[in-house]
Amino acid sequence: MRVGGEIVYVAVGANLGDREATFASVIRSLDREADLLVLAASPVFETAPVGPLGQGAYLNAALELRSWLAPLDLLRRLQQIEGRLGRDRSPDAPRWGPRTIDLDLLFYGDRCIDLPDLVVPHPRAHERAFVMRPMAELAPGFRHPVMGIPIVEIARGRPDVDDVQLWPRPPGWPGNRKEGGVSGGGG
Ligand code: ATP
Ligand code: CA
Ligand code: CA
Repeated sequence: MRVGGEIVYVAVGANLGDREATFASVIRSLDREADLLVLAASPVFETAPVGPLGQGAYLNAALELRSWLAPLDLLRRLQQIEGRLGRDRSPDAPRWGPRTIDLDLLFYGDRCIDLPDLVVPHPRAHERAFVMRPMAELAPGFRHPVMGIPIVEIARGRPDVDDVQLWPRPPGWPGNRKEGGVSGGGG
């Protein structure tokens, strides 16, 4: 088994198109990456949208990966996957508007990164029940590297945490953790 790399957490969200099919495609895409290993997946949740009105509800989840990519390279790779899954990044797409897929880099080990294109920990993650709820299932004891508080406690403190509803596991979405990755694929 390959050693080294770092544990990273990625948020997955979708509220446009076939959300479940997109979630399955995310796993397939990540499995094809030689420098990433999907270690574990949270359950999937459904959440009412934030942002411009009139959008459909989101499916949200979080993934634990082992990454041998540097943070910016990982971000670029996630953006490539978003592009292949139909993410509209045209200048007139509204901020926080509907999207086929959104992949956010939440945590990269306990690193703090502040670059023009990449801020880690994701600066809004801790305010969002739709991020903290899946993260609390995936890595309850992981301490937010800036706040120093375990994720499960941050999730518990969110007043809107009960607005995040458990969703049946989509076909192709990993069910539980296995040694060496959830699907046995990857590099
Ligand atoms: P939010 O960041 O509030 O969740 P969003 O996901 O809708 O909003 P995007 O339009 O997907 O925002 O991304 C805008 C920019 O955010 C990207 O071009 C990217 O460079 C930058 N960015 C900064 N930090 C991160 C991060 N941790 N994960 C993903 N993108 C990030
Ligand atoms: Ca986002
Ligand atoms: Ca994003």
